[in-house]
Amino acid sequence: MKIYKFGGTSLGSAGRVKKVAAIIAAGLEKSKIVVVVSAIHRVTDLLHESATKACSGESGYRSILDELDHLHLLIAGELFSGEILEKVTVAIRSELADLNDIVHGVFLLRELSEKSLALVLGFGERLSARMVSSYLQEHSMASFYLDARELIVTDTNYGDALVDTHASELKIRKHLALFDGVPVVTGFIAAAPDGTLTTLGRGGSDYTASILGAALGAAEIWIWTDVDGFFSADPKRVRDARILPFITYAEAMELSHAGARVLHPLAVQPAMKAGIPVLIKNSFNTAAEGTRIESSIPSEISRTLPVTGLSSINKVVLLNLSGSGMVGVPGIASRLFSCLAQHRINIIFISQASSEQSITLAINPTQAVKAKKILEEEFTSEIVFRQIDPLVIRRNLAMIAVVGNNMSGHPGVSAQLFETLGKNGINVIAVAQGANEMNISLVIDSHNEDKALNCIHQSFFLSQRKVHIFIAGTGTIAKSLIGQISAHRLNLQKDNDLDVVVCGMANTRNIALDDNGINLQDWQSALLPRTEHHDIEGYLQLIKERNLHNTIFVDCTASAKVAEVYPDLLLANISVVTANKLGMAGCRPLYQRIRDAQRKSNARFLYETNVGAGLPIINTLNDLKNSGDKIISIEGVLSGTLSFIFNELRKGGLFSDIVRRAQQAGYTEPDPRDDLSGADFARKFLILGRELGYNLEYGDVVCETLVPQEYRENMAVADFLDRLSSVDGWYADAIESAAKDGMTIAYAGEIRDGKASIGVKRVPLSSPIAGLSGSENMVVFTTERYRATPLVVRGPGAGGEVTAGGVFADILRIASYLV
Ligand code: ADP
Ligand code: ASP
Ligand code: MG
Repeated sequence: MKIYKFGGTSLGSAGRVKKVAAIIAAGLEKSKIVVVVSAIHRVTDLLHESATKACSGESGYRSILDELDHLHLLIAGELFSGEILEKVTVAIRSELADLNDIVHGVFLLRELSEKSLALVLGFGERLSARMVSSYLQEHSMASFYLDARELIVTDTNYGDALVDTHASELKIRKHLALFDGVPVVTGFIAAAPDGTLTTLGRGGSDYTASILGAALGAAEIWIWTDVDGFFSADPKRVRDARILPFITYAEAMELSHAGARVLHPLAVQPAMKAGIPVLIKNSFNTAAEGTRIESSIPSEISRTLPVTGLSSINKVVLLNLSGSGMVGVPGIASRLFSCLAQHRINIIFISQASSEQSITLAINPTQAVKAKKILEEEFTSEIVFRQIDPLVIRRNLAMIAVVGNNMSGHPGVSAQLFETLGKNGINVIAVAQGANEMNISLVIDSHNEDKALNCIHQSFFLSQRKVHIFIAGTGTIAKSLIGQISAHRLNLQKDNDLDVVVCGMANTRNIALDDNGINLQDWQSALLPRTEHHDIEGYLQLIKERNLHNTIFVDCTASAKVAEVYPDLLLANISVVTANKLGMAGCRPLYQRIRDAQRKSNARFLYETNVGAGLPIINTLNDLKNSGDKIISIEGVLSGTLSFIFNELRKGGLFSDIVRRAQQAGYTEPDPRDDLSGADFARKFLILGRELGYNLEYGDVVCETLVPQEYRENMAVADFLDRLSSVDGWYADAIESAAKDGMTIAYAGEIRDGKASIGVKRVPLSSPIAGLSGSENMVVFTTERYRATPLVVRGPGAGGEVTAGGVFADILRIASYLV
């Protein structure tokens, strides 16, 4: 004989009831079956809402009752016809009429005791069991309705009643010693010794099934629900959760106690005691094998992972009892726990540090105020004498449990757990681990619950790790970057076990968001006009709301406003990769805020492409510094346009001609004066100077502009180019006179002794700078180690592809840190 329990999720509609009947019919071919049913999907919630509304005098309770009438009659109407429909309808209406009377009474009295609430909640199972049983009868399966009040005896703690196992066993065996057909038993409800209805707590039908199974010595207990089995985490919250084909009773108990709703926490115990396997099966997908819960894992199954699963309770509060008077005083804990037990306050989590100065407990939020009050009464005199501080309640918290039989004696589990949380900026408020080492529980801020579940899950279960990318800007660099990610993503998945998922893109007008990843082949169509959440702040808000783990923000804009939000991003523990110089070359306060945020945050901030695009300049500089080399000077050419102009000048051209040619070839900004001013070049030297630790502002970089004073303002580009020939002679002379000393000229920058300058400089013909060609960039590091022959980094210092390549490399650097 087997027990089949069908949850509310399996009984959501007439179609679902039919499916349940088919599952029972198939099961009956192999063995006898006792069926336990929950209320129809959502019904218990609606009953609860109607009663609490009625109690607080809200007339809205009536419409909820109407909805309940409608729901049940609708399903009955679809399941039955003719005479039987009439019979079932009469029975349903009679139950619903009783319900209406009771809830109306609650409304009139404005009083809802636990006893009355239990009575109201119990209607759900009574209605569903009647319908299922009648439907089975209609389909040639002998069946009878059985009210669990006849079977299960509890105490008078109406809402969460304690089962009297012995008395219940006797009753169950008496009623079901011999039976024909299929008993359909109401889950969730039971009776106090005087026969009043009690309930076994929310989700309690699983417990009913287990109690029946144990009492009747069933071969197996099958819990039919809406997922394929017990997963490594709630599949509705952790997308990559994996099905667990086998778990032990102990693991199931730990996981369900810590919030895995798929099985009621008390349901394991009776089955375990009787040695009956519990199966979790999907009524929506009967072909799935499901999960088998037994005392041990079959020996042929090798489990390599230390962790079996994780679960969470999304609403807990912490109570903290602390004070110097607690140290070394025996009996405080005993009084604390006895006091809570007397008032039936359930403790979800306990933690006490060895200093004995404080004990932290997690409890259900609905019991927090009561708990505070009774404990303050209990410890009144200690509080008056300042031996114990007034109790502190901390709200809006979640508890996460990491569970596994194999965790015992396996070093490194907690290290890995805390590392992944730390890198994602999730603060751990309290921790507890029992000496059986099967469960590490932690309390965190509830808004980080999903993020924590996902990053812990990824860390322990997945060989392939994810990073979530949000891009700002859709211009040249962003386009190249998307092309590169798209082309390389599969290789990264295969070779590096890394999945780079682009979850967001936005420019000032459009936005695309998808936590599962935007289709990079066709990202343009994903972009939709921004109707709300405007500006970078709006985008930031959307990214923060998602709160995905391993998030990296990528700035492909040249916007000062975007650079302004880097500190915010970092403080929200979102890593930043930027090709935009306006942060690191921004004004001192912004720069300082970014650096401060970086220090406070566990997120990373990388900006290699700020200087020389894809060339490894900042990394090289930091490697030199960090490995103890001393930088004597940095010289370099960090403008492709100015590099081109001076490389051509050295070949003998006229300055104004070369500028015109460069403009026509698209090497310059639309107005070449933007390049000739040296401003962009100066910003890069500012960044290098700051990187060396100098306290520089933009104005401290001595910058020689190549735009003559009189041509700076109020002059069209064409006029400017026409008049530029006036300076040709100066450049020709400068080159000639330098040549006499074995030198030439270049527009170059230099940092030495804390001072940065850029401008036209004389350089020896033998200098690497004199050997540049085209629009190449170059940085020359002269250091203690590289003194005789300086270290040179040279190559193209601009362009969408190389810049995007540099950005991509920064993303991968952060990814390898995060995962
Ligand atoms: P039923 O109505 O069948 O009793 P429940 O809603 O009580 O269904 O339980 C099933 C739900 O439990 C699933 O839909 C799933 O979202 C949730 N759940 C939480 N943790 C887990 C887990 N570790 N494995 C499977 N499901 C889980
Ligand atoms: N119907 C009850 C509830 O929703 C019991 C159950 O579903 O197991 O909590
Ligand atoms: Mg359930």
